[in-house]
Formats: sequence, C-alpha cells, structure tokens
Amino acid sequence: MSTLEKIKSLKNTECIVDVLLKEVLANECRTCGKCVFGYEGITQLELILGDITVKKGKSTDLELLRELGEMMAGQSLCEKGEEIAQAVLEAVELYQSDFEDHIGKKGCRAGVCKKFMTYHILAEKCVGCGDCMDACDEDAILGKARFVHVIAQDECTQCGACMDACDEDAVVQAGAVKPRCPRKPVPCKKR
Ligand code: SF4
Ligand code: SF4
Repeated sequence: MSTLEKIKSLKNTECIVDVLLKEVLANECRTCGKCVFGYEGITQLELILGDITVKKGKSTDLELLRELGEMMAGQSLCEKGEEIAQAVLEAVELYQSDFEDHIGKKGCRAGVCKKFMTYHILAEKCVGCGDCMDACDEDAILGKARFVHVIAQDECTQCGACMDACDEDAVVQAGAVKPRCPRKPVPCKKR
C-alpha cells in the first residue's frame, strides 16, 4: 500500500501523526541526498512529527508542515520526495483536528502516542497495599495502608512501573477518556 493510501485509509486504532512519522522514517529521501529539498525537507518532517508525538508540538507546526509539503512537492527531484510531500499535505487536510489535539496537548485520540497516555488507580479495585507507591521512582503516588492510592498527574512520567507492580489490576492507562478516580486517598472499599 502506498503512503498516500495508508493516510487515506487510516483506522480508528491508528494515529495519523504516528503513521506519518513511520512513513517519513522509511522514506528513501533520508539517505539519498541528491536533492536539497528532499533531504532537508524529510529531516525537518522527522523533527516536527517526532516532537508532536512526544507532547512537544508547537502552535506553528501545522503551518510549517503545510509549507514543507508544498515545497517538497514542487522542488523534489524524484517521486519519493513528491509522494511523502503529498501524504503530508493530505494528512494535515484530512486530520487537522488530530494534529491540533496533539499540539494543544489534549491527547492522542487513538491512544497510540505513549506520552499522551495517563495512569490512574481505580478506587473499586485498589486494596491500599502500597506496592505501586514503592515502585514509583518519582514519588508521584499518594496513599497509605488501606486507602485508595492516587496518582499525582503533574509528577507522573508515564513510566508504567506502578501498573506492573499492582497485583489487583487497579492501575489503568487512559487516552482521551479518563476514568473517574478520587482526587485524594480515601478508605478502600475492596477487602
Ligand atoms: S493501586 Fe494496586 S499496588 Fe497500588 S495500593 Fe492499590 S492495590 Fe496496591
Ligand atoms: S507511571 Fe511511573 S511515574 Fe507515573 S505514577 Fe506510575 S510509577 Fe509513578
């Protein structure tokens, strides 16, 4: 399937920024170097898309992607540069809101970009054992024995260690839709 076909037939479980970045990383312009627009363009695309996937996107990125796409489409010496440029232009046109969600730090709709996933502790499952707290190097978990533990989102680095440590499956990951959880530790209901 061509890059353009992949962009047009994106599944709900796929993230447009992630798919596009993978196509950029697989594009031959990265190693060719015969034309400046292809090589420089693909390098910039890799940096911009990479940043967007890890919550470092900037408000100017969408416009920059459009400019790069138009420049590469018109100036690249071969069809490899033109193909990825058309894919970029198509992607920002078809999935603008997905790009905006990433850039505005609202989230990754498909739940693919790990930096946008948050960790939460479900009150109905937590037994207050403290294993998650012991596993967290960031001291991002609040709680005490027999109290439902709570993750301080500002401190959490999304490492996932608490999820691995919990035998009760009380720690869950969430994308755009977050579970309802207590804001501070409360006595456990589960025994
Ligand atoms: S989330 Fe899991 S590991 Fe942490 S206190 Fe609750 S039951 Fe224990
Ligand atoms: S994901 Fe990592 S940093 Fe965040 S609360 Fe769990 S162990 Fe701590």
